[in-house]
Amino acid sequence: MSQTKFVLQEKEMPRQWYNIMADMPRLPAPPLHPGTLQPCGPDDLKPIFPMSLIEQEVTAQRWIDIPEEVMKIYSLWRPSPLYRAHRLEAALKTPARIYYKYEGVSPAGSHKPNTSVPQAYYNSKAGIKRIATETGAGQWGSALALAGSFFGIEVNVYMVKVSYNQKPYRRIAMETWGAKVHASPTNLTESGRKVLSADPDSPGSLGIAISEAVEEAASRSDTNYALGSVLNHVCLHQTIIGQECKKQLELAGDYPDVIIGCSGGGSNLAGLSFPFLLDKINGKKLRVVAAEPSSCPTLTKGEFRYDFGDLAGLTPYMMMYTLGHDFVPPGIHAGGLRYHGESPLVSQLCHDGLIEAAAWGQTEIFEAALQFARTEAIIPAPESAHAIKSAIDEALKAKEEGKERVILFSLSGHGNFDMQAYADYLGGKLTDYAYPEEKIKEALSRLPKIPA
Ligand SMILES: *Cc1c(COP(=O)(O)O)cnc(C)c1O
Repeated sequence: MSQTKFVLQEKEMPRQWYNIMADMPRLPAPPLHPGTLQPCGPDDLKPIFPMSLIEQEVTAQRWIDIPEEVMKIYSLWRPSPLYRAHRLEAALKTPARIYYKYEGVSPAGSHKPNTSVPQAYYNSKAGIKRIATETGAGQWGSALALAGSFFGIEVNVYMVKVSYNQKPYRRIAMETWGAKVHASPTNLTESGRKVLSADPDSPGSLGIAISEAVEEAASRSDTNYALGSVLNHVCLHQTIIGQECKKQLELAGDYPDVIIGCSGGGSNLAGLSFPFLLDKINGKKLRVVAAEPSSCPTLTKGEFRYDFGDLAGLTPYMMMYTLGHDFVPPGIHAGGLRYHGESPLVSQLCHDGLIEAAAWGQTEIFEAALQFARTEAIIPAPESAHAIKSAIDEALKAKEEGKERVILFSLSGHGNFDMQAYADYLGGKLTDYAYPEEKIKEALSRLPKIPA
């Protein structure tokens, strides 16, 4: 049997992030100030982000050095392994060769520390002592709690109340790394108090939690805000994944025909695919596929237009695929994919035909997750299972066509904290939500008409 695991030495780790804004055919339209509708300048973002990250948000410089302190922390779990899925291939009887890059080896169990660590680093350099953030299921909150512990930054997490009560283990992980976790809505902020006075039993939502965190960051000079996906600097930090992967595939003597990532805000897909998209822009033939839930189908059913990043409308308008900022997706187990919008970079690349999208239902992605766990051993995060489902689909198409195909996907995290989801699936209690067409139509109809 040929090789299964492709490992790089620590000294072979890429020392720069790749910025696709240097090469993409058309740059994304700028974010707009919600009051003036003028492009946002650094001054608009300074109250909540350090200048170094604001610069990374807008620069067109192709390669950006990874600070030495960040490299040291990355090396605790990076380079992450690339695997060839021999057993899954055999089970599918496919002529395709399937590879996956596994980001679940980070202490938080996902790709998110690739950005939480540099974000905490740049904030600490700027003299920031506290960071406020939101978390849904807890993956971003735990990644930032971990990063804060390295730099002596106090992390204040607004965790959506239903998740706070239903998913205690991620909360305990955050507290173990030293973060403070609040069940949102809280009475600590104006936004929270407003929601509670209208509905004392509010279960909370990601939109409310973002408003609370942004409000805290904007009103305290020692406190900044951090976002775990969507923004350009987040996608930038994640490109360490794709660059490592290129070297590992060289060891394997292969090059991908199809690259797949699940897509919530777009950052793990961006991280794996952008370094390969550089080759595509330079003439290489390959496809990039974003795998999303059919109940929150941002790229497959959304519109490409300006919208807010949050429910309360505190963020700038961003040009992106969106389902409408007040669309509340059904409560699927892949909590990390329940976002109404999409990274402006991924959106633009999708709009220009460099990225395509596929949508999958909740039951079929858990079927794929089980087939994966029973062949490749790792129990995947429900989010990552969307990428697995797409990869299996591509492998079966290759089999039908009787063609070889090299498939590469991002296994963005493990599912060890998602046992309730697996229990529901195994117990036959999992609901398949219909595509919420009417609700999306309504949410989109409430969007302001801003010309692109
Ligand atoms: C947060 C998360 C995602 C979704 O976020 P992206 O920015 O789209 O990558 C996917 N997988 C895992 C394991 C996550 O924690």
